[in-house]
Amino acid sequence: IYTPGKNLLVADALSRQPIPHHEEDSELAEEVDAYVHEISLVEINTSDENIVKVIQSQSQDPVCLQLRELLNKEWPSKTELPLELRDYYSVRDELCLIEGILMRGNRMIIPANLRNVMLNKLHEGHLGITKTRRRAQCTMWWPNISSDIERKIKGCPTCIQHTSNHHEPLLPSTLPDFPWQIVSMDLFKFESHWYLVVVDHFSRFFELAHLQRMRTTDIIRVCKELFSRHGIPARVCTDSGSQFQSLQSSEFQCFAREWGFATTTSSPHFHQANGAAEAAVKTAKSLLKKNKDDFEKALLAYRNTALETGFSPAELLYGRKLRDTLPFTRHAMVAKPNLSAFPEMEGEYRARYKRNYDRRHRCHELEPLRIGEFVWISDLKRHGQVVAILKEPRSYLIKTEKQTVRRNRYHLIPAPYLDELPGTVVDSAPVGPNESGSSTPAPQASRGTPVAEPAVEIPTAKKSRTSVPSKPAPTPKMLRPSPVRPAMQSVKPRRSQGSSTSVGPAPVAATRSGRPIVRPAHFRQNLLRVKS
Ligand SMILES: [Zn+2]
Repeated sequence: IYTPGKNLLVADALSRQPIPHHEEDSELAEEVDAYVHEISLVEINTSDENIVKVIQSQSQDPVCLQLRELLNKEWPSKTELPLELRDYYSVRDELCLIEGILMRGNRMIIPANLRNVMLNKLHEGHLGITKTRRRAQCTMWWPNISSDIERKIKGCPTCIQHTSNHHEPLLPSTLPDFPWQIVSMDLFKFESHWYLVVVDHFSRFFELAHLQRMRTTDIIRVCKELFSRHGIPARVCTDSGSQFQSLQSSEFQCFAREWGFATTTSSPHFHQANGAAEAAVKTAKSLLKKNKDDFEKALLAYRNTALETGFSPAELLYGRKLRDTLPFTRHAMVAKPNLSAFPEMEGEYRARYKRNYDRRHRCHELEPLRIGEFVWISDLKRHGQVVAILKEPRSYLIKTEKQTVRRNRYHLIPAPYLDELPGTVVDSAPVGPNESGSSTPAPQASRGTPVAEPAVEIPTAKKSRTSVPSKPAPTPKMLRPSPVRPAMQSVKPRRSQGSSTSVGPAPVAATRSGRPIVRPAHFRQNLLRVKS
């Protein structure tokens, strides 16, 4: 029914006078917008070079051809399907043909021979696993694409060399049986003076000594003084970093033998392992900073103040309160602390601390490494190979081009792309073709890898700093010395994928008779130069 415009109170849909903006309208607009985007995803630009490649590849791929045949047909049961089609069974209802391209929903199906190329494209920019998966989600799909992406990134040299491991759960530390049984030592510098901290694992009572000079003799002198006061500990734990080199010296070891105590070291630069000392260093530094005039009074206050369990370090070590600047009654000074409940309380406290630590750092266990495995040493910024698994938890000896170093698992990131580093023996087991056609980690180097008996050289802090290359580390392609490659290829041809990417397992280096090829050391030097 026609109504004259002047009689209309509200403009109708065809009016050129738009209705003022409303909340619901913006929602609607968003919906429309989303719809438009959805349409445009499906509208494929078939002149795009990449899409032409996919179309060509699909038309030659036997799996894609079979899938096309099955489109809009009743699928046989999964077990009746040929093996190569079974992975598509669960998505059979989503398969369709749009502008001649086989799709799963709005994602193109990538045939096996294009997957490596596409993985490289997906991983452009070296985004993480989640983001790379998201990139795939809006354009392409193939069976197990998710795990292929994960494998690709876990084997990507650039990503490995710019990542750091998750923290591992805190190792439960046990309470010693008595005070001063186990102590930790650490050295630190504060306002150009060196200090030695010795902390008792039982009471958390710590001693702080100013060192005139950083010589082994000076450290031994301080130790003797402390041990004469508190007794000789059964075990002394230290960080094995450069500053404690003197404690590995024969002079200190001789002192340890003579006085009858054991020494253990934690991996260099891994302070978590020597947590007691680390905490004491923090406290000591803070006390020093804040109490320049009367540090000793501050130290007394610390030692006489109750810890989480309600007992002070002094009570735990001496079994009595110390008289300090606070007014204490005679009774309080005479009363002996009842320590019978302490071990249980301390055990609970440590368990609680571990729980919080693990949660705070979102810890999870890292896979143990195998002997022969290649790793990227994240703090040294250098590659190496595991040559020994040490008795200390999560500790490994790693051989690098320059030296053999000890590291905690935290600093070691598996570098599967290095399985063809010259001078190493690789397992000669045949490499089977990979169904999904994407990269798989190459077989690990054999356990029997002949390595020189490790002579541990602990790098000094300075040395390790200067040895960190400021240039990017080599890509696997650069690592392969060309003179040796033809020989390797003649023995074990690369996998059938024939893609141009650098991922994928290493060709196995072995002679025709199966004897492993050990490349001469001078190639190794070449490699180092190639790095630049
Ligand atoms: Zn990457």
